[in-house]
Amino acid sequence: MGSLVRTDGLTTEQAEILAVVREFVDKKIIPVATELEHADEYPTEIVEGLRELGIFGLMIPEEYGGLGESLLTYALVVEEIARGWMSVSGVINTHFIVAHMIKQHGTPEQKERYLPRMATGEVRGAFSMSEPGLGSDVSAITTKAARTDDGYEITGQKMWLTNGGSANLVAVLCKTDEGAESVYRNMTTFLVEKESGFGETAQGVTIPGKIDKMGYKGIDTTEMILDHHRVSSDQILGGKPGKGFYQMMDGVEVGRVNVGARAVGIANRAFELGIAYAQQRESFGKPIAQHQAILFRIAEMATKVETAHAMVVRAARLKDAGERMDVEAGMAKMVASEYCKEVVEASFRIHGGYGYSREYEIERLYREAAFMLIGEGTSDIQKMIIGRALLQDYQL
Ligand SMILES: Cc1cc2nc3c(=O)[nH]c(=O)nc-3n(C[C@H](O)[C@H](O)[C@H](O)COP(=O)(O)OP(=O)(O)OC[C@H]3O[C@@H](n4cnc5c(N)ncnc54)[C@H](O)[C@@H]3O)c2cc1C
Repeated sequence: MGSLVRTDGLTTEQAEILAVVREFVDKKIIPVATELEHADEYPTEIVEGLRELGIFGLMIPEEYGGLGESLLTYALVVEEIARGWMSVSGVINTHFIVAHMIKQHGTPEQKERYLPRMATGEVRGAFSMSEPGLGSDVSAITTKAARTDDGYEITGQKMWLTNGGSANLVAVLCKTDEGAESVYRNMTTFLVEKESGFGETAQGVTIPGKIDKMGYKGIDTTEMILDHHRVSSDQILGGKPGKGFYQMMDGVEVGRVNVGARAVGIANRAFELGIAYAQQRESFGKPIAQHQAILFRIAEMATKVETAHAMVVRAARLKDAGERMDVEAGMAKMVASEYCKEVVEASFRIHGGYGYSREYEIERLYREAAFMLIGEGTSDIQKMIIGRALLQDYQL
């Protein structure tokens, strides 16, 4: 069968993009990933390389200077990048979500203003729903945008902004008073412009510093404090208030395919490392791969990688075909992240004591896999989405 995660029915262009990205990952990311990760150093050169390859504009339409590629192409590119270093896929993920939200929901002026510069990576996006008191329960946000004579003033505290320091455009979900009965219609997404960096990066916008994390290093994850940040009504995504929750959920839906793809990338790499190590390491007079317990572990790992890949591909293809895919995206994210954790754990066990050494890549993957269980909604939240949709579809 050859290598894992091959995809049927790709166009020549898709295959070419993937080949270029894979080469970039093998030559420019894998050799330096663990060192940069241990130093918690931002992958500046790698990000520059991705800009040159056009990855920041992969899904941005050609009329705005992007490559106009599909969600499937994007997901497969992310699988490749995460195979090299998951943090790098995180650099492009929030950017991609914000670009997607502007493409789908932005006014013509917002598209003109942001998409061409997002395609080149000059404008870099982050998105912000979570707060110190909530993540899963988005409806409970307390960050408020109050109307003024000429726009709004935003005040509140946001938490866990991936790329919060490096981004210069943040899609921020706020409560606004639209007088609607449903809490979901009293939320609005604002496009907040700021400088990249830390400290007061725009009037009333402070990015305190990087949150020290267990893994997912290199990339900056931050808080954001908004203190009477003044913003004009033109910065409401789509121009009209009250639609923020639905816009964010649309962004998160494609984000789930992305996290699923990242999980496949990590799991695939863990598999590669495990199968290689199992053929080199000997115990009781033979390579450990020849002990059936290890052989079975390898078989299970590969099957999980292939299953997760197939589910991510299916969800992406449905979206590309314009079909509903909330259930499929939730299933793909849940299966891929849970399998990722299991495959990494199996590879870790194959490595024996060396897996616990920071010299071995699997140590990094072990810490990265944990985040896949959380980002873009935990497995519990995916189960709620999947379960509720199924009850509707199978209503008696
Ligand atoms: C490194 C990192 C980067 C992140 N990047 C971003 C970002 O860029 N933008 C952003 O907005 N957010 C971001 N987040 C936040 C992330 O989306 C949330 O952490 C996640 O949604 C979980 O929310 P929480 O941490 O508040 O957990 P909680 O919602 O407090 O959940 C705690 C536990 O309770 C469970 N739980 C909660 N509600 C239910 C329920 N109804 N039924 C069953 N179980 C339930 C959860 O599954 C979990 O196990 C990031 C988080 C991390 C760690």
